[in-house]
Amino acid sequence: MNAFAETMLDVARVRSDFPILEREVHGKPLIYLDNAATSQTPSAVIDTLDDYYRRYNANIHRGLHTLADEATAAYEGTREKVRAWLGAASHREIVFTRGTTEAINLVANSWGRANLRPGDEIIVSLMEHHSNIVPWQMLAEALDVTLKVIPVDERGVLDQAAYRDMLGERTRLVCVNHVSNALGTVNPVAEMARAAHEHGALILVDGAQAVPHQRVDVQALDVDFYAFSGHKAYGPTGVGVLYGREALLEAMPPWQGGGEMISRVSFEKGTVYSEIPHKFEAGTPAIAEVIALGAALDWIADTGIDLMAAWEHHLLERATDKLKAVDGLRMIGTAPDKVSVLSFVVDGAHSQDIGLLIDQLGVAIRTGHHCAQPMLASMGLDATCRASLAAYNTPEEVDAFVEALQKVIAMVR
Ligand code: PMP
Repeated sequence: MNAFAETMLDVARVRSDFPILEREVHGKPLIYLDNAATSQTPSAVIDTLDDYYRRYNANIHRGLHTLADEATAAYEGTREKVRAWLGAASHREIVFTRGTTEAINLVANSWGRANLRPGDEIIVSLMEHHSNIVPWQMLAEALDVTLKVIPVDERGVLDQAAYRDMLGERTRLVCVNHVSNALGTVNPVAEMARAAHEHGALILVDGAQAVPHQRVDVQALDVDFYAFSGHKAYGPTGVGVLYGREALLEAMPPWQGGGEMISRVSFEKGTVYSEIPHKFEAGTPAIAEVIALGAALDWIADTGIDLMAAWEHHLLERATDKLKAVDGLRMIGTAPDKVSVLSFVVDGAHSQDIGLLIDQLGVAIRTGHHCAQPMLASMGLDATCRASLAAYNTPEEVDAFVEALQKVIAMVR
């Protein structure tokens, strides 16, 4: 039995769940390696969206009619699925947002504005996606709060000693990704959470790149906030999740005002907000997408997250070995603990040219700064090529990708 067969993931069956994988691009079979930006969607998720609009499209929570009841049950059913998936203690700790970005902005604007005072400190890491940097910069400017940045070594590993040195009595919050989208580095968030808590600080973890690739348990990690996006986890666009500890969410003021987030509105007696999590879900949410996110989590559970992770690990090793053998290619991000992402630059070839030309051969990769400009700049780069894996990718695709890359490099050099 070879290494791939040992994982027992039936990749042919997995692929048959994704209609888009049958399409061709420029007359070539699609090889989709841009999963860190957006993963593809299985039929079960597409059918769930379709079924909602065909059978029970209705606004949730306030309706007394059958369709509204069905939509509410399915929407709240997903909340319970997310709770179980993340290992949260209560469904009250699960807030639906538009995505990771909105989840982080919610914490910045609600918790941040209510709790931070001039001179307080927030620690972020250098390898954050812009969505876990810019909201904190905006807040720092508005509230006169200081941002401190954890450095990254040449492999793309966070400097834990520097992090511990930064923690102090003014530290209020630590913001770090679980997995870096630009490098694939898996960060030791449980250990980082422990250190933050020892200093009385909270920790927010951006899990956008972790949830699709590994098991996550917010209680075992002991984190205070955890965010992820549906569209990177085999789900639809337009929906994401913020997990927050119940006591924290209870104490936080609402961020956006409107319908759904109130229990009573009166000009005379003032407005009373809803209980959590509804207090943070103003307006009509992405009902169909939330329900379909539940279908995506079911699909991952049925496929088996551990099998998927093992399969992707084999693919990552195969791709890394093959890429290292490419003349003039340098891997960016060589942390010992990595998932899914292969970032690289090639001597004498612009990343953008590689991306455009390899698309002509049917291969979808991403080129650019991957919304991680500060980290790339620290490495003296403004762009890399990034291939990122999902469970439906195959060893044959990895080989075809590296072959296509060799052809493209020969063309541009
Ligand atoms: N964090 C990370 C690590 C990401 O990879 C991304 C998306 N590239 C985001 C945050 C932002 O996610 P979204 O655009 O879905 O809000």
